[in-house]
Amino acid sequence: METIVIVGGGAGGLELATRLGDSVGRSARARIVLVDRSPTHFWKPLLHTVASGKLDPQVHQVEYSAQAAEHGFQFIHGEVQRVDRDTRTIEIGAYHADDGAQVLPQRSLHYDRLVFACGAITNFFGIPGAAEHSLTLDSVRDAELFRRRFLASCMQASNRGMDGARASVNIVIVGGGATGVELAAELCHTVRTLAQYKVHSLDPARDVRIRIIERGDRLLPQLNPRLSKRAARYLRALGIEVCTSTTVARVEADAVHDTAGVRHASDITLWAAGVEAPDLCLSLRLPVNRLKQIAVSPSLQTVGDPKVFALGDCSSYVCPVNGTALPPRAQVAHQQAVFLAEVLARQQDGILPGFQYRDYGSLVSLGPFAAVGVLIGGLKGREMLVGGWAARMLYSLMYQSHVMALHGFIRMAAQTLAHWIRAKLTPPVKLH
Ligand SMILES: Cc1cc2nc3c(=O)[nH]c(=O)nc-3n(C[C@H](O)[C@H](O)[C@H](O)COP(=O)(O)OP(=O)(O)OC[C@H]3O[C@@H](n4cnc5c(N)ncnc54)[C@H](O)[C@@H]3O)c2cc1C
Repeated sequence: METIVIVGGGAGGLELATRLGDSVGRSARARIVLVDRSPTHFWKPLLHTVASGKLDPQVHQVEYSAQAAEHGFQFIHGEVQRVDRDTRTIEIGAYHADDGAQVLPQRSLHYDRLVFACGAITNFFGIPGAAEHSLTLDSVRDAELFRRRFLASCMQASNRGMDGARASVNIVIVGGGATGVELAAELCHTVRTLAQYKVHSLDPARDVRIRIIERGDRLLPQLNPRLSKRAARYLRALGIEVCTSTTVARVEADAVHDTAGVRHASDITLWAAGVEAPDLCLSLRLPVNRLKQIAVSPSLQTVGDPKVFALGDCSSYVCPVNGTALPPRAQVAHQQAVFLAEVLARQQDGILPGFQYRDYGSLVSLGPFAAVGVLIGGLKGREMLVGGWAARMLYSLMYQSHVMALHGFIRMAAQTLAHWIRAKLTPPVKLH
């Protein structure tokens, strides 16, 4: 029986494993194996809400072992360290418990066909001090670390203020893309809620300074300029400082310096200026682009090895029609997972169909009450700009559709209802 191994159970990999498990895994036509370094899946576009304390990741995570048992695939917990294409094996590192004790030794696993879906990590672009002194939003652990530091900084500043000393918190977010904008907006809401619950005694408008530094001349460069302006206006109204056309020169423990010589005081620096594929992609010894993303053909096979496929953020798919590379987005990973689930289930080599990406637009959250974005629809692909509360509702549906792809409509609806009731019974943000 053929073994198909999927490396990475993120937005694309877990959906692919679920679909393939349902189609060929259950009927024992192929063995589907998913390998991930984490025991649970969390949908990355929600990480900013974990960082702001609005969302409890425990409640929204999916246990890989449970998903595997329900959908006919096998899950292996461990970090893939290397791929040997000559022997068609992947090496999985030893798994250690939190106390450092080894639970599982190093293992190797044979594959007949391999799918790389290991996502992307933060790109510091070699800026001095950025990796050492910045936090990132690559994982739930990173988001939780940011949340705890933010809470601690507010409480410490509040305590200092009681002695009559300086009582302010400076947050610098480097990168005015979707991640930076969404986090900044959520933090404004969090800091006000923490004040209402008397977790700190700072004046949210005066004492907590949130600043976005963006190298380009506008926020959200992937969106229509009108929406960028609208988002910037909204953020400024919330009290967020937006510094566009500002390039970071170096980062220190307590400040970010730009190339114009300005020092931006910073208690917490969050780096959200771009992504690159992890070094693991290089172990394939296949063509990659300058961001280490694996080059794939229209069938999503890697250029150089038809037995190895790649999807999502770790891959580079250049559209043969217009020559543009697809962005690292959940929408892309989802569509590629749907495509590959069809292709791999056929169990035939030879000429495979080509992947066709359909852009449905993008939405960026501006906190709990607003969002901006563009919807693309109809046969002619007409663009419609959306904003405000309606856009916020549509933004929420993105996550529901991911949950539906994994669990089906009934469970998605039940979970949504359960989360809504839970939200009504608990404080709007985590207070500790
Ligand atoms: C804060 C934030 C906000 C975002 N907001 C949006 C948004 O609003 N809309 C949108 O479309 N996109 C958004 N994105 C991008 C979106 O999350 C990604 O494009 C999408 O998750 C990519 O899916 P993927 O399957 O390629 O990788 P991921 O979802 O990143 O999953 C990769 C998986 O691989 C695993 N893995 C990595 N290395 C190894 C290894 N060596 N061994 C084993 N397992 C490994 C990881 O644990 C992870 O489970 C956002 C991203 C972030 C970080």
